[in-house]
Amino acid sequence: MKTRVVVLGAGFAGLELTTILSDAFGEAIDIVLVDKGDSFVLGFSKLDVMFGRRPPAAVRHRYADIVKPGVRFVQSAVRSIDPAARRAVTDHGTFEGDVLVVALGADLDPAAAPGLTESGHEFYSVPGAFALRDVLPSFERGRAIVGVMGKVFKCPPAPSECALLLDDYLTARGRRKAVEITLVMPFGIPIPPSPETSKALLSAFAERGITFVKDTRVQALDPARRAALLTDGTALPYELFLGVPVHRVPQVVVDSGLAAGPDAWVPVNKQTLETAFPGVYAVGDVNGVGTPKAGVFAEGAARVVAAAIVAGIRGGSPPGAYTGEGSCYVEFGHGEVGRVDVDFLSGPKPTSAFHEPSPTLVAEKTDFGASRVKRWFGSPAS
Ligand SMILES: Cc1cc2nc3c(=O)[nH]c(=O)nc-3n(C[C@H](O)[C@H](O)[C@H](O)COP(=O)(O)OP(=O)(O)OC[C@H]3O[C@@H](n4cnc5c(N)ncnc54)[C@H](O)[C@@H]3O)c2cc1C
Repeated sequence: MKTRVVVLGAGFAGLELTTILSDAFGEAIDIVLVDKGDSFVLGFSKLDVMFGRRPPAAVRHRYADIVKPGVRFVQSAVRSIDPAARRAVTDHGTFEGDVLVVALGADLDPAAAPGLTESGHEFYSVPGAFALRDVLPSFERGRAIVGVMGKVFKCPPAPSECALLLDDYLTARGRRKAVEITLVMPFGIPIPPSPETSKALLSAFAERGITFVKDTRVQALDPARRAALLTDGTALPYELFLGVPVHRVPQVVVDSGLAAGPDAWVPVNKQTLETAFPGVYAVGDVNGVGTPKAGVFAEGAARVVAAAIVAGIRGGSPPGAYTGEGSCYVEFGHGEVGRVDVDFLSGPKPTSAFHEPSPTLVAEKTDFGASRVKRWFGSPAS
């Protein structure tokens, strides 16, 4: 009998896990990969499309192109999950596995912040970021706010990158002098686990006249006054609002009992990513393992789970514990890219190392994206 693995969600975590298992077992394994979407977009490609650096068609990778032995992709919404039975009900059938991997990511909840959908924009979803590509060209003057609306959000560098790329974009259009850029973040520094990276970002903000408003969030927009209402009581008028919406645990995961509520990211064993249900793993942004919500951590966690599944089938020794290590590329504008390497779980406290922007890192970031697309959507490893 083939081992049946059901993977819910074809993002960073689901794609990495599926690829490793297919490479390891080929047709000798039975993997069902479910996603409601028809294509995958790398997180940072949203910024590229939004600022007109790449066309939408170039960054969409169609799931229909996944041709991997042992893998069946099902485009369908997951409607319910029964972790005790390792079973998921979708619009296109019910799937039961010997192993169930929940990799449904973090959902965005724009409606949680009143006024956002009526008088602002969000750049965290694919439709939101892609729509901005047609909005930004007509923005001429006034204050632009890049504002974080929730306490927990994907890719902590992304709002800083957005502010710096907006500076570039407006400079190229000759509109920079007519615009004030303000970045509102819930932290004291842009990237709390890395004071060095934060220092470099703060000096880039100062150099480019970007105001950094720290330790507060945007809780609502007032459409009548066209003002962003911050949690510290301040009201900031704006002409353009680019928001990071509130993130939440997908409702289907809450309903399954794997998470206690919309803010209670799925508890897992920090070393194995297994949930309280044997054979059920929660991998990537959906879990509460203690790393930031980012693709690099999602794929790192997927590798540990894949190794455990391989060992379970082949009878080898179990893999080493998940270390929560990852490297994030950081866009500094002006065509510059830096990198921060962070290790969250190996030691008693997180450690980090910052690498100054360099042409090598620009190439490395391009290769990071291209290599994932090739591995996940290209032909199987020979
Ligand atoms: C602007 C921006 C820039 C970013 N830049 C970076 C970066 O430079 N580096 C980095 O590492 N990370 C970056 N990220 C973060 C990164 O995109 C996410 O952290 C990563 O995608 C998480 O992977 P995941 O597999 O956990 O979830 P996801 O990639 O979000 O995948 C979850 C999948 O589950 C599917 N799904 C959800 N609910 C259902 C359902 N009910 N039924 C069926 N399917 C469902 C979704 O369609 C989705 O495809 C960025 C994010 C943004 C928004």
